[in-house]
Amino acid sequence: MTTCREALDLILASAAPLSARPTGLFDALGLVLADRVVSPETVPPFTNSAMDGYAVRHDDLSPASVASPVLLDVLADLPAGSIAAHEVRSGTAIRIMTGAPLPAGADSVVPVESTLSEGNRVRITAPVKRGANVRLAGEDLREGEELLPAGFVLTPASLGILASVGIAEVAVRPRVRVAILTTGDELVDASAKPGPGQIRDSNVQTMCGQALAFGATPVPIPRVPDTREAVTAALARARAEADVIVTNGGISVGDYDFVKAVLAEAGAREVFWKVQQKPGGPLGFWLWDGTPVFGVPGNTVAAMVCMEEYVRPALRKMMGRSKLLRPEATATFEGDFRKSAPDGKVHLIRVRARRDGDRVVVSPSGPQGSGILSSMLRSNALALVPADATELKSGDEVLVHLIEEPEDR
Ligand code: AMP
Ligand code: MG
Repeated sequence: MTTCREALDLILASAAPLSARPTGLFDALGLVLADRVVSPETVPPFTNSAMDGYAVRHDDLSPASVASPVLLDVLADLPAGSIAAHEVRSGTAIRIMTGAPLPAGADSVVPVESTLSEGNRVRITAPVKRGANVRLAGEDLREGEELLPAGFVLTPASLGILASVGIAEVAVRPRVRVAILTTGDELVDASAKPGPGQIRDSNVQTMCGQALAFGATPVPIPRVPDTREAVTAALARARAEADVIVTNGGISVGDYDFVKAVLAEAGAREVFWKVQQKPGGPLGFWLWDGTPVFGVPGNTVAAMVCMEEYVRPALRKMMGRSKLLRPEATATFEGDFRKSAPDGKVHLIRVRARRDGDRVVVSPSGPQGSGILSSMLRSNALALVPADATELKSGDEVLVHLIEEPEDR
């Protein structure tokens, strides 16, 4: 049987970055730049005022003070977005707003707080340094300099930088479209009242939510009953609408588990089926004419753990990310965990991780049955109990995957 490590390696070897496409800035946050960006322009494009005040010649000022203020004639008012019609000559000033281009002749700006307005004149009551409150053309960015390297994950600041130099579109790797196909005769919608023996489809929510949180675009495919025909039709639809397919349920060895058979019939190549892990042991992975297909088991936690541990890294690789995996830590275990029997499987147990000085301490977030979603709700990390271990005791060290950002809760 495939180990967790082998399964991940096989998946990542099959997942290739999507081709870049031109994308508007509003849609590019969090996406990965395909090429480096060089500035076509200089920022600020012109020398301008950093304050509301008066544009002056510094030579006129000294020694201005409250006791002996300097009096200047005010030639004009200059709001941001306007160009001065006058030159600032000796003995004159132009009233200027933040962002307005510095008028010819002026070299400094006196903030309005250091002045007294007197009709057409202004009294300067405090000196400023030469060049004070002036933002020089090009002091932020220079034409020809590299703004962002290839592979950069676009942030709000980087989108602002791009806009400031007139780049409204960038080549980025697109969000992966992930088809989520839940299967099962027993399932009804969240809004429906289940009949006898039925339960609500919660996995479509957890899995679509995860896909979205991973930065991909979930494409929910209408849920299908456990029939070969329905599964066949839904898979064809999923392939047409998405870059990656994740089926849910129907992947084990039950009489109504058709996903595997239908994929084989359609000519998909099985890369592996079954992983030495719990939950999520029946996980399978296929390549269907190049489309990666994950067959994820239906138990609620198994579905989420497989999305987290296997689908997420693949999606990130396809979106051009270089960091594919969550942060890892060697944590100190607190509590008691025992496998019911030695099974040679890695157990991914739901834990709550917290920092205690330099250490990360983890303890189980609740019962560990693969259908118990409430303990997933309370967890922020997965602890990996090694295949050859049978128990964890307080004080033991354990490897953890931190699946939530610390500031999230
Ligand atoms: P399966 O992998 O189809 O054999 O399903 C395993 C268990 O997970 C069964 O108890 C199913 O009822 C449950 N299950 C399957 N799909 C879902 C789903 N979409 N939402 C909630 N539970 C599910
Ligand atoms: Mg099922």
